[in-house]
Amino acid sequence: MSNRTFAIIKPDAVKNGNTGKVYDRIIQNNFKIISAKLLQMDMPKAEGFYAVHKERPFFKELTSFMTSGPCMVLALEKENAVQAWREAIGATNPKEAIEGTIRKEFATSIQENAVHGSDSDENAEKEIAFFFTKSEILTN
Ligand code: GDP
Repeated sequence: MSNRTFAIIKPDAVKNGNTGKVYDRIIQNNFKIISAKLLQMDMPKAEGFYAVHKERPFFKELTSFMTSGPCMVLALEKENAVQAWREAIGATNPKEAIEGTIRKEFATSIQENAVHGSDSDENAEKEIAFFFTKSEILTN
């Protein structure tokens, strides 16, 4: 069990003006933001981030969406962070997300689902390192 996870406020949520509302959820859920930045991914970055999905039929559509506008990438800290953030964001498909979750409130489709959350401690560390240098992460 690790205390760090990686999150993205995806381009749909940024475009729809929901960045601040997702930040409120992060704070309400007692995560500490240990790094954050606004950026727009280029295609190699998005393809690298979602490399595990490259054989999936939606890969092209997904990487186009993720490069379509700015997104907010964050490193979050909390006890059992990966599981806690997955619970806060809800199911991938907003139709299956339970009431009160971030995706239930802000996602518009299975693809444009507002936020990302790492699915394991190992991936959380990889994803944080994919976007942040060590010196960009708060350590106290
Ligand atoms: P997550 O861990 O809940 O984000 O879900 P996955 O790792 O399975 O998928 C990664 C991302 O791909 C999701 O968050 C969606 O943005 C997108 N995605 C997943 N399934 C589908 C699908 O069936 N169709 C489309 N268009 N996008 C999908």
